[in-house]
Amino acid sequence: MNLILLGGPGAGKGTQAKKLIEKYAIPQISTGDILRAAVKAGTEMGRKAKEYMDAGKLVPDEVVIGIIRDRLAQADAKKGFILDGFPRTVPQAEALDKVLGGLSAKIDHVVSIDVDEEALVTRLTGRRTCKNAACGQMFHIKFTPAKKEGICDKCGGELYLRDDDNETTVRSRLATYNQATKPLIDYYTKKGLVRPIAGVGGIDDIYNKIVGILGAGSGCACSCGGGKH
Ligand code: AMP
Repeated sequence: MNLILLGGPGAGKGTQAKKLIEKYAIPQISTGDILRAAVKAGTEMGRKAKEYMDAGKLVPDEVVIGIIRDRLAQADAKKGFILDGFPRTVPQAEALDKVLGGLSAKIDHVVSIDVDEEALVTRLTGRRTCKNAACGQMFHIKFTPAKKEGICDKCGGELYLRDDDNETTVRSRLATYNQATKPLIDYYTKKGLVRPIAGVGGIDDIYNKIVGILGAGSGCACSCGGGKH
């Protein structure tokens, strides 16, 4: 199954992707995670991307399109993938169509997670993420606190507030989302791919809604879209 998770910053794309990859045994491809790894590694691309990320702006299309082209060409993406945070602009979506066309693949579903803007600000500014890149578990100081403050329940790693989760940057990311990314709902509605989900309630409630909509009773990970055989 080839899936796109769409939604504002903090809508829960990453959290849901982490649960969905376990169910379907397909990789999560997060351009945000790949860019943060490049920033941490201090690569040329990472240095350039950091300026945009810290300002809550989008990294130029050609950079993220290149990242996705390389990542989708890897063997593990052949059995399916979950795109988290890509595409974020119409030109990125058009480029994705081309890349997939070249791989004889297509998107099966675009899950659009809808959450009220003020709720997103509260979610993001209280979010804490595990520093251990292999874990990446997320917590919230109010809603899902770690058992021991600042320590990941899952792997014992240190929890941190992402550089771009401060309120000023969060508001800028939301404005960018409204202006550049929301038009994608129209883009994929025209293709009949959008599956809207109300992103309210507990993590498991939202997950169950997504799995229900994907018709995933069989847990099928092939491009049939799930549940068809
Ligand atoms: P995320 O972890 O998905 O919230 O992404 C964090 C930041 O990385 C964003 O605010 C952007 O600066 C950058 N970024 C991630 N994905 C993309 C993308 N598809 N296009 C442009 N910038 C991106």
